[in-house]
Amino acid sequence: MKQQILDRLEQGNRRWAERRDEAAALRRRTAARGQEPYAIVVACSDSRVIPEQLFDTGLGELFVIRVAGNVLDRHQLGSIEYAAAHLHCRLILVLGHTGCGAVSAALSGGGEGYIQYITDEILLALGEERDPLRACEKNVLHGVELLRRAFAEHLEIPCEDLEIRGAVYELESGTVRWLEE
Ligand SMILES: [Zn+2]
Repeated sequence: MKQQILDRLEQGNRRWAERRDEAAALRRRTAARGQEPYAIVVACSDSRVIPEQLFDTGLGELFVIRVAGNVLDRHQLGSIEYAAAHLHCRLILVLGHTGCGAVSAALSGGGEGYIQYITDEILLALGEERDPLRACEKNVLHGVELLRRAFAEHLEIPCEDLEIRGAVYELESGTVRWLEE
């Protein structure tokens, strides 16, 4: 079984490496020139939430940080700071999604082991909120707020032209709904 999974990954990579189409040309171009992503996306690790796919983008366009529940700690902040300061990305998007297992786990009282680090952070965002969709939105807005605070203190990044937004991806319809604070 494990071998089948490994085979599947290896075969998939072989197909990718052997492609001779537009995607392969883009791969060679971005490998030679370096990356110039125009947006940073903080999304959930959920296998149904693939930012490059749902925004219909290709290689080199999005600088993506994925972590269950799209929560933020210092490692994520370091990645974001790198992309903002050195790759000059001017938009940061925190992207939650409907049907998020991490938000559900937090609503059910939190997880165990290392999962607790994630659910504790989500519970902090939720307060008394128990509606799943509203909870998802609050978790996103908590991330937006955290980023704004974090980068207000890091003056080496020109904050005045850095846009930080939140949105929720709807699994069923495929639509990204931008949140207004
Ligand atoms: Zn999720």
